[in-house]
Amino acid sequence: MASHMKSIKVIFGAALLAGAITGLFLLPVRQWFLAFEDYVRQLGGLGPVLVILAYIASTVFFIPGSALTIGSGTLFGLQTGFIVVFIGANLGALCSFLLARSFLRDKVAAWAAANPKFRSLDQAIGKQGFKMVLLTRLSPVFPFVLLNYFLGLTAVRLGAYVLASLIGMLPATFLFVYIGAAARDAIAGGASETTDFYQQIFKYVGLAATVAVVVIVTRIARKALREAEQAQNGSVIVGKPRLDPNHRPASFKEMMLLDDAHDNQLIENCHPPRWVNPTPASKYNLVVIGGGTAGLVSAAGAAGLGAKVALIERNLMGGDCLNVGCVPSKALIRAARAAYEARSGAEFGVHLDCEPKIAFSAAMERMRKLRAGISFNDSVERFTKLGVDVFIGNGHFVGPSNVEVAGRRLEFDRAVIATGARASDLPVPGLKEAGYFTNETVFTLTSLPRRIAVIGAGPIGCELAQAFARFGSEVFLIEALHGIMPNEDPDASEIVRRSMMEGDGIKLMCCGKDLKISEIEGGKRLSVDSHDEHYDIVVDEILVGGGRRPNLEGLGLDEAGVEYTAKGVTVDDRLRTSNRRIYAAGDICSRYKFTHAADAMARIVIANALFVARRKVTDLVIPWCTYTDPEIAHVGYYEKDARADGFEVATITQPLCEVDRAVLDGEEDGFARVHYDQKTGKILGGTIVARHAGEMLGELTLAITAKQSVGMLSSTIHTYPTQAEALRKIGDAYMRTKLTPTVKKIFSKWLAWRR
Ligand SMILES: Cc1cc2nc3c(=O)[nH]c(=O)nc-3n(C[C@H](O)[C@H](O)[C@H](O)COP(=O)(O)OP(=O)(O)OC[C@H]3O[C@@H](n4cnc5c(N)ncnc54)[C@H](O)[C@@H]3O)c2cc1C
Repeated sequence: MASHMKSIKVIFGAALLAGAITGLFLLPVRQWFLAFEDYVRQLGGLGPVLVILAYIASTVFFIPGSALTIGSGTLFGLQTGFIVVFIGANLGALCSFLLARSFLRDKVAAWAAANPKFRSLDQAIGKQGFKMVLLTRLSPVFPFVLLNYFLGLTAVRLGAYVLASLIGMLPATFLFVYIGAAARDAIAGGASETTDFYQQIFKYVGLAATVAVVVIVTRIARKALREAEQAQNGSVIVGKPRLDPNHRPASFKEMMLLDDAHDNQLIENCHPPRWVNPTPASKYNLVVIGGGTAGLVSAAGAAGLGAKVALIERNLMGGDCLNVGCVPSKALIRAARAAYEARSGAEFGVHLDCEPKIAFSAAMERMRKLRAGISFNDSVERFTKLGVDVFIGNGHFVGPSNVEVAGRRLEFDRAVIATGARASDLPVPGLKEAGYFTNETVFTLTSLPRRIAVIGAGPIGCELAQAFARFGSEVFLIEALHGIMPNEDPDASEIVRRSMMEGDGIKLMCCGKDLKISEIEGGKRLSVDSHDEHYDIVVDEILVGGGRRPNLEGLGLDEAGVEYTAKGVTVDDRLRTSNRRIYAAGDICSRYKFTHAADAMARIVIANALFVARRKVTDLVIPWCTYTDPEIAHVGYYEKDARADGFEVATITQPLCEVDRAVLDGEEDGFARVHYDQKTGKILGGTIVARHAGEMLGELTLAITAKQSVGMLSSTIHTYPTQAEALRKIGDAYMRTKLTPTVKKIFSKWLAWRR
């Protein structure tokens, strides 16, 4: 569709140009022009002033000024024409800006805040006014007449706006006036008699050079603008990272137990030892590098639609989620909860005569069995049956449209980078020498560590720390920042912290500084300062649970012209990389490192890469959940982010101690919270802390996706008794805010009248 429109524009432009040239020769343009020029000359100094006023009026009334710009060059020549347009355009831009700033900013800013593109631009402009105005002026992302008003609605300072506009409008003004001046010579004709051949050459070379400079400056500005927007969105940081040339990716041999029947079944499914790669097709519609969630969904979706697809995986199909992420961790968490409940039945009148016996090895075996069972969904066999050419090996680009794997070269029309992320290498002295587990290796444990230190109190660290504690390990949780899960609302993570420390006996060392590790006889010693106290801890094992870094090494991104930063592959809102044939999806390019986010991004890639869709990541509503007990689940805005984006935020929090089902379950420590836009009532975001917060969050996610107001939660009937009733109560509380004293008075009068 986009390329179709482009061709129409090109044809239309060419026809217009041809028409203008033909008109130049067939009509008495020269006479008309000379007569009009005569008239303007008679006006003397008034002529340029009139054009300046016309320019201001046309700018304010949204009439594109390019015809006036070219016309000024034609009427007054390059020098005077340039000065006239420069003054007219800048004064017009200033008037529009001031009008928008004075009358519209408050109203439109609220609307603009809900539009992701405008929002990110507004924030970027607010922070780096001069640079952003300059770039938007140089890059024709928006038409000139609209941009003036738009900038008036943003937070940019007047001085920065004026200065940046003066500079930023120079190249295009010069180009258009130059074109007009060249047309003047062509129309007036006399010039060619008086101007010698070399002057004519000089003029046209000058015109070509001006066009080239404007095109180049525009491109540079567009790119800089994109980067500034992305940096503002927090999706990338600018500057190429140094990739570790010696990085050795983990092998499935370290992730699985090679003498275990279940793990062998999984390996047979996801990395069949006797697999022979197929003969490559002459060209693929889509080549996918990485067989985790993002890669599998891209490959299956594209093949299902009839595309010729190659999928390359060097380790285990299924990626982190199946093998060393969501699946094994949730299986362990479930078993750990069973262990916890067996011990904590007294509250419910369930007394055991002896301590329950917790067999960690059996829990791990259960996990391996379930994981192997699920693994068929992601297997080489299943994907081959779906029509995908599966290649086992390391995939890397050898050019802008070629990938190499296991000595075979694959040519593609489009490719997707879906190589995921891995645990960061923490620069902790002694860590490497002492040895440690990451998520890639910890699920091979068969016996419970008596003492374990978990480094990093983010979602992965907290989930696994709590699971180990519930199985019976003595757990030390070490975190550099304050508390746990610092990205969540402080009162939400505080509830989980209490549960983990008081309920599960985990020892938290937050605000940890100067962590050092050494190996000692019979264990590993960790020394750390936390809240002005020094701790020396001896443990049997260490698990690194914090920090993820993208799998960029060995991909040949430079060969393919794909830009990247330390945070991953750089993509635009449509998931395109700097090589327009190559897209990215999942952990490799996103700050939302979740399976469902990888899945949603893959669907966007299929639509945008193979068809002419223009689907955007910023349109996605991405929820998430940390599966501690209680769980913390979140979707949409946090309060401070919504305020920063210009919303008038109101928040309603419903404690679970007022929700019958939570009281009956003995799970009162938690809440549901909804942020909404005070003007429209629309739900902006929410957080739930509850044992099954992840399940409850679905309702809120649906409401946000459907752009519903909080009142909708009130009018939706919830089964009684459920913890999800907390959301209905929030809806009711919102409806009560609508019952102002005046409304109440009117109701009373109405009801009195009816008595
Ligand atoms: C312990 C843990 C628990 C988690 N729990 C949850 C959860 O409960 N819910 C949730 O939503 N998310 C969870 N996640 C996150 C989730 O696992 C990831 O977001 C998801 O797996 C990302 O999918 P992906 O396809 O982007 O990358 P990955 O799953 O990492 O897949 C990338 C694949 O690319 C392959 N690869 C890399 N480079 C190459 C190459 N050059 N050639 C060929 N193949 C290559 C890798 O071997 C890998 O298989 C968890 C993660 C961890 C670590």
